[in-house]
Amino acid sequence: HTQVFPAAVVRVRVSDALAVREFIAAAPNSAPAHPWEFYQYNVRRSNAIGAFRALPDTRDTSCTTRRYHLTAAQLVRSRVSIIIAFHNEARSALIRTIMTLYLRTPPRHLYELILIDDCSEDIELLPALLRLQLPPFMRDFSSSATAKSSRTHTRSAPSAASPQVTIKTARNKQRSGVIASRNRGARLATGDYLLFLDSHCEVNIGWLEPLLVRAAEAAGDGVIAVSPVLDGIDAESLAYTASSNNLMGGFDWNLHFHWIPRPQSIQSLQQQQRPQHFAQNVNAKTAYLRDSGWEDKLFGEARMRRNTNTAAMAFKSPTVAGGIFMITRDWFFKLNGFNPLLETWGGESIEFSIKLWLCGGQIEIVPCSRVGHIFRKEHPFRFPNGSDSQTTYLRNSKIIAESWLDAYKYFFYASKPAAKHISVNQTDIQLSYQLKSTLNCRPFSWYLLHVFPQLKLPNDDFIAFGTLSCAELCLQITNRATNIDIDIDIVSQVHMSSCFHSDVTHWYLHRQHSQLRASSGACLNVERMPNRTNWWRRPTRPFNFRVVLQPCSDGEDVGENVGHYQKQNQRWLRRGGWLVHQQTQLCLDNPLSDVVVVSHCRFAAPTQLFRFAMELQRL
Ligand code: UDP
Ligand code: MN
Repeated sequence: HTQVFPAAVVRVRVSDALAVREFIAAAPNSAPAHPWEFYQYNVRRSNAIGAFRALPDTRDTSCTTRRYHLTAAQLVRSRVSIIIAFHNEARSALIRTIMTLYLRTPPRHLYELILIDDCSEDIELLPALLRLQLPPFMRDFSSSATAKSSRTHTRSAPSAASPQVTIKTARNKQRSGVIASRNRGARLATGDYLLFLDSHCEVNIGWLEPLLVRAAEAAGDGVIAVSPVLDGIDAESLAYTASSNNLMGGFDWNLHFHWIPRPQSIQSLQQQQRPQHFAQNVNAKTAYLRDSGWEDKLFGEARMRRNTNTAAMAFKSPTVAGGIFMITRDWFFKLNGFNPLLETWGGESIEFSIKLWLCGGQIEIVPCSRVGHIFRKEHPFRFPNGSDSQTTYLRNSKIIAESWLDAYKYFFYASKPAAKHISVNQTDIQLSYQLKSTLNCRPFSWYLLHVFPQLKLPNDDFIAFGTLSCAELCLQITNRATNIDIDIDIVSQVHMSSCFHSDVTHWYLHRQHSQLRASSGACLNVERMPNRTNWWRRPTRPFNFRVVLQPCSDGEDVGENVGHYQKQNQRWLRRGGWLVHQQTQLCLDNPLSDVVVVSHCRFAAPTQLFRFAMELQRL
């Protein structure tokens, strides 16, 4: 009892094409003077194309000859709920997304289509869509309206054997953003799988079958999310072009999404070695890889394809492809969906990807599945609440870093210092911690080692950084170092205190100039005690010294006369767990309660053992 998917045969009736023209023309501002202005793509071209067009078959030829089988048991668990959230989408782009879905998806899998209008200006769009006399919308009104705030329509079945497509729609009264809207769509869904799609896509021939087959196959190994390869639809010409088979989703320490070349062979991932070889000239989007010198000149893409012979094989990816993916509904909700704390747009698919990998799942890109997507250079929409895209993205990124990156979050802060000043409610972060403990999720270090070794540690500047603790306590600055040039008792400015409060100090031990710098910008130093008589008789007696905060000296050597601002005095050496002040050769010490001093280094003295949250060299 296996199911063989039939080849898709597509024909659009003339009357349907006319209905679509009317629908598009009825949009407010349907023929704008500046075709780019509102949508950030050429809406005139998009309108001219209409609901459907032939697309080049961009799959590897081996995909087209393969047959995609589902067993009878798999088949009954393959109902797909497609979720599309949209805000101010051109009618033509949205209807094309829907019509390609309808025409290029086997009816038995297209279980329901969920459209969430995120408070678009075109308030007539959804009602007009539902009035269309096109096959996906022709429906039996007697079975409408189930969910309270949403509308449900079922296509009337021409014959009892043909399954029905349910269309559920909802409109947000207020702009909620893609994250909340997709979550809302997911809550309306009742299928076995959820599949998230943008509202300016064209699914290509045979797109769903390989996703379903791969998801079913891999289900035995635990949960899996699968993504298609996203082919490019040019924002100006609307031309459809194939994307590389060899790109996975990834991100940098800013938590910005990037396409990155996948490792040269599947084996290298399975053996969990650091992949050595990357494709060359894969895509302009990988330029940042070239900049960081990660590319191996020896391996062009053609050579990679020849060597691996995996053009049709699904491959692991650190993140889903641009937020377009399919996962079982069960697991989507087990993972709490998209983190509802993230606002408007940005980071949610990176967050979802990280938590999926860490909490027992995996992600694959299925190259035989192709979906076209209009890639835009600018956001066509505003960010609500007086925010802008950068601020929103930064705040979302901070929540992701605080939730999932453990101590590696300091790499994020190192590349995005502005994020430190954004306030995030700690009780909010607790939600992710709860999820982590309920699902027994792995630490981020596992992800770096086994899933995303391409994300290199930016360890050039620092030997170590993060909170600096001795036993249970952390080295902490009080008074926020505002008065450090004024002659006050600066001893009180550093002390040991609990590591578990929101304002705990982060320290950075610089590789080159060995300064131990606090996030506030001050540097730790050792200074002779004032008012202490006879100190010169025994100048290295530790109690003649105290640990102080000073402005960090910068530039090269500042000369003899600058006294305690000399950079040399600000040098600290990492020896095992010790932090040794270079000039005095004394060790940082926490002899009792909150006191921090320097004292003679003693072998294995627990009060002298300090740990940074992130140590980038072996101790
Ligand atoms: N979107 C939305 N509400 C918003 C912003 C975006 O529903 O506030 C929709 C948008 O119409 C699109 C999807 O979310 O269907 C993803 O947004 P976009 O395409 O701008 O993201 P990109 O593809 O550029 O990553
Ligand atoms: Mn998009």
